[in-house]
Amino acid sequence: GEALLRVQNLKMHFPIRGGVLRKRVGQVHAVDGVSLTVKRGETMGLVGESGCGKTTVGRCILRLYQPTRGRVIFEGQDLLKVGSPSLRAARRQLQMIFQDPFESLNSRHTVGDILAEPFIIHRIGTPAQRSRSVAGLLERVGLAPDAASRFPHEFSGGQRQRIGIARAIALNPKLVVCDEPVSALDVSIQSQILNLLLALQKELGLSYLFIAHDLAVVKHVSDAIAVMYLGRIVERAAAGVLYESPLHPYTQALIAAIPDPDPLKKNVSPPMLSGDVPSPINPPPGCHFHPRCPYARGRCRTETPALEAFGRSDTGHWVACHFAGRLGREGGAS
Ligand code: SF4
Repeated sequence: GEALLRVQNLKMHFPIRGGVLRKRVGQVHAVDGVSLTVKRGETMGLVGESGCGKTTVGRCILRLYQPTRGRVIFEGQDLLKVGSPSLRAARRQLQMIFQDPFESLNSRHTVGDILAEPFIIHRIGTPAQRSRSVAGLLERVGLAPDAASRFPHEFSGGQRQRIGIARAIALNPKLVVCDEPVSALDVSIQSQILNLLLALQKELGLSYLFIAHDLAVVKHVSDAIAVMYLGRIVERAAAGVLYESPLHPYTQALIAAIPDPDPLKKNVSPPMLSGDVPSPINPPPGCHFHPRCPYARGRCRTETPALEAFGRSDTGHWVACHFAGRLGREGGAS
C-alpha cells in the first residue's frame, strides 16, 4: 500500500533543569531520530519497554508535543510546518486511543455528550443529526443504545475502551494512534477489543499506529513492526519476518520472552534480557543496547550502529546492529 504517514528523523529532547534557579543541566533524548511509515489501511506496531520513547512518538505525531526536529508527513503535508487551519483539518483525520479510557473520558459527562463533543467542536450537524451519529457509533462498537444516557463510571474497563474507540472514530479519521489500548484490560477482554479494532479497520479503512510494550499483543494486529530501544528504532520489518527471523539481539530477547502456547516448540537458545532499562538521560555511548547485549564487543561501546536495510534492500527488513546476521557465528560477535 501507499504511505499515509511518514515520520522522518523525529527527535524530541526534553531539558532537565536543576538547582534553585532551575537552570538547564542537560537533556533527555526521549526520541532520537525515529523514522517510520504507516501505509494506508495497514497497522504499524511500535514496540519497546516503558521509557523507550514510543508514546512520545505517538504524541509528536498528533502534535500533543512539539518535537525538537524532524518531519511528520501526513497525506503529503508536513504537520510540523503547517499553520493552524491546516493543522485543525488534519486533526480530524488523526485520532488517538489511550491506555486508560477512564482518564481520557470526562466522568461528569454522559457517554452521549462525550461522543457528541467532536461533532460540536468541528461544528458538524444539528443536535438531532448528532444524536443519530452517537447512536450509530454506539452500535458500531457494540454498546447498547441506552449507553448514551449513562456515565463512564457505570461501565467496565472493556466497555469504557469501546467508548474511547467510538470517540476516536467519530469523525471518520484516517489514522488512529492506539497507545497501549489493551494493556490495562484483563486478558479475556483484550482479544475482544483487538478484534473490534481489526473489524473497524476493515469497515472504515483505518490505518493504525499501534503502540505496545508487549510483542504478543502487537503480533496479532500488525502488518509491520518497529522495535524501539532508548529513543531509537533498532529493527523494523514485516510482522511475519520479524517473528520468524529477528536480527537484533533486543528483538530476539523480546520474542523469547513471549510464552509459547505450544510446549513442543522449543526456542533456540534465546539471549535473555538482563539488567535494567538504562535511563534516557545519559544513554550509554555507541550502541545503546550494549550494556545488556550478550554479543557486545569493543566496537559496540563506541560506534552507534545505523538503521540499515538488511540483505536485499527491497525486503523492508531494517536493523541497527554492527553484527546483524552474524550473531553467534564464527567471525561474528560471539
Ligand atoms: Fe549488541 Fe553490538 Fe549489535 Fe548493539 S551493535 S546489538 S551491542 S552486537
